[in-house]
Amino acid sequence: MHTLNETHDLALTSWVDSANRPGCDFPIQNLPFASVRRRGSDESFRGAVAIGDVALDLAAVRDAQVFGGEIAELVALAAQPKLNGFMAKGAAAWSSLRLALSRALRSNSVEQGALEACLIPLAELEYDLAMNIGDYTDFYTSIHHATAVGSLFRPDNPLLPNYKWVPIGYHGRASSIGVSGQAFHRPKGQLKAPDATEPSFGPCKRLDYELEVGIVIGQGNALGEPISIEQAEQHVFGLCLLNDWSARDIQAWEYQPLGPFLSKSFASTLSPWIVTLEALAPYRAAFTRPESDPQPLPYLTAEANSAGGAVDMQLECLIQTPAMAEPVRLSRSNFRDSYWTIAQMVTHHTVNGCNLQAGDLFGSGTQSGPNHEEAGSLLELSRGGKTPITLAGGETRTFLEDGDTIIMKAVCEKPGAPRIGFGEVRSTVLPAR
Ligand code: CA
Repeated sequence: MHTLNETHDLALTSWVDSANRPGCDFPIQNLPFASVRRRGSDESFRGAVAIGDVALDLAAVRDAQVFGGEIAELVALAAQPKLNGFMAKGAAAWSSLRLALSRALRSNSVEQGALEACLIPLAELEYDLAMNIGDYTDFYTSIHHATAVGSLFRPDNPLLPNYKWVPIGYHGRASSIGVSGQAFHRPKGQLKAPDATEPSFGPCKRLDYELEVGIVIGQGNALGEPISIEQAEQHVFGLCLLNDWSARDIQAWEYQPLGPFLSKSFASTLSPWIVTLEALAPYRAAFTRPESDPQPLPYLTAEANSAGGAVDMQLECLIQTPAMAEPVRLSRSNFRDSYWTIAQMVTHHTVNGCNLQAGDLFGSGTQSGPNHEEAGSLLELSRGGKTPITLAGGETRTFLEDGDTIIMKAVCEKPGAPRIGFGEVRSTVLPAR
């Protein structure tokens, strides 16, 4: 688990003025990574680090030979179009580059002159996924979501007996994961209303989003060698936002007995900036279980995980319909309310010997809070489509309509600590083809 160091110091300021403004997502204590190029250009994508309202183009930093030695090698790795090579280097390497960039971006640094030529305004950028995602696993860590959805799908048996023992997940589809800005056509498939005798085929009528945290694996493990819970966080590069689009009518008909299939594999969208786990050190929170619940088995238990395994990360979901000039909020929740921690997900995933690889993605599962208005999906907010929600301006929704844009944001914020923002993930539903 990362400890606080000089890179987290609230008093640090940057020679990039916009990074010092209150409310900035990307102050000098954040330093998230993405793959970028100038919008509309045919330049190669390359790694970059956000600072204020600009990105530090790591390919330009490499070419300008701003750093020497180990840091120059790490800059060159992180400047690649995909960051898998940098992610595979491990936590000590990520931390070394973070420290070097933190020092070089601080007010009055000797590198200021050289680095000023390596900045690109965020407003001029377009993004690619920061890593090749070999495998994608979606967990189900919000007990509030699992209970609410379970009560809709199985009113007599909402929370299955394994839930409080096993960090439930399924293997998802990596090929259809896109970066913020993704637009996709409403999927078609087999649909069956509960009262119909046979399924029909056609466009999904119950299209939904899921507000999730994306967990990006850095250094992997060899096949057959589980990752202990004490070591688990050393294998996690960072966090981002994930919209796990879901076709509820397809899902309801197909999900038993093997879980989601075509209801989830048509699109998933990630926010471009990956916030390192190290940047989130000030926002770690205790992981606790109600005394009436079973405590995790020993392989999912560690002192550090109990003391600070959770992340105090505020999540927000907004919608912008074609009729709206500005998006309006659908819900807010907090990743701190997750029933399982990141370390428990990593350890459970590998306990059978399964190998993780650099760039693998975990979804946290829909992050719904304990209260109904904190639900991270329309399925929950509209109580299974039975109760339309009214949006500001008077429009109503049970599920998504063509042209709707969903925007997700996240921030870590509290007195005495730097504000760590995640930017946003935004994507739009197009009509069925
Ligand atoms: Ca999901």
